Amino acid sequence: MSYNIEKIKLNNNIYMPSIGFGTSMVVGEECAKIVKKAIEVGYRHIDTASAYKNEKEIGKALAESDVNRKDLFITSKVWKDSMGFDNTIRSFENTLLDLGLEYIDLFLIHWPKNNDEKLNIETWQALEKLYKEGKARAIGVSNFLEHHLKIILDNCEIKPAVDQIEFHPGLMREDTRKICKENDIIVEAWSPLGKGKMLKNELLIETAKKYNKSVAQLCLKWCLQNDVIPLPKSENEIRMKENLDLFDFQISDEDISLINSMGYFDGSDMDPNSFN
Ligand code: NDP
Repeated sequence: MSYNIEKIKLNNNIYMPSIGFGTSMVVGEECAKIVKKAIEVGYRHIDTASAYKNEKEIGKALAESDVNRKDLFITSKVWKDSMGFDNTIRSFENTLLDLGLEYIDLFLIHWPKNNDEKLNIETWQALEKLYKEGKARAIGVSNFLEHHLKIILDNCEIKPAVDQIEFHPGLMREDTRKICKENDIIVEAWSPLGKGKMLKNELLIETAKKYNKSVAQLCLKWCLQNDVIPLPKSENEIRMKENLDLFDFQISDEDISLINSMGYFDGSDMDPNSFN
């Protein structure tokens, strides 16, 4: 089955599939199997990070896949302990080696370092170098809130293309999305299902029934209709497929507003202002 996954244009004119496959907490041989299955099922956008300790296994899945490299969109991230100009370049080279790739589609700073603007800027400058050398087709950040982004925007030569943040019903991060919109930065949603916690919310359960869709599908479509790219993770083939089957229905404006106005329900409790 083909899912007609739309593509979205980033601010440097490259295209990214509008749904990605999350891979955190998926490691070892199992990871290679799961990512291979995800590609087989139809995912073309894979999200990893050096911190997930699974880049080698993802590299194995990519090498064994029949899909052309140019049809895949691979994201990775530099972890907190490898920030700074030289460390970031070294970390990127390891990522590339582990993934067995010649370039990465999107490379992100995983978390901002709080109270260390210099380190965030130097790390960004390393990403700019990698971009200019063609080793990363696009560069961006993750978990950067409005004030973290302002520092990068005031000091950068190349604007971030993406900010990957925790985003799901009840956690919309309006200020961060506003500055992203103003600067043509695409927002990606990590934990778009709130690590599965959203599936227990009564409002979401009732709304999903109206569309004959699952709560997971409602959450992912809700991300897309808010112009946010979801990155769901599933180790189960049926749920992998379910999470791609989003392009044959539309949530009404009224229901989008209802979900948008939902209060905080649950989440990771990882605050970018204090997660050091
Ligand atoms: P998700 O919100 O994607 O939820 C994953 C959980 O939901 C799993 O337990 C999964 O179980 C379950 N699930 C998935 N699909 C369905 C479905 N259709 N029906 C019922 N249950 C379902 O959580 P993650 O935290 O994994 O976030 C997604 C990705 O975002 C990560 O894998 C990672 O790539 C990225 N991320 C980035 C962060 C950052 O700091 N930049 C931080 C955290 C995540 P099962 O596997 O059994 O289907």
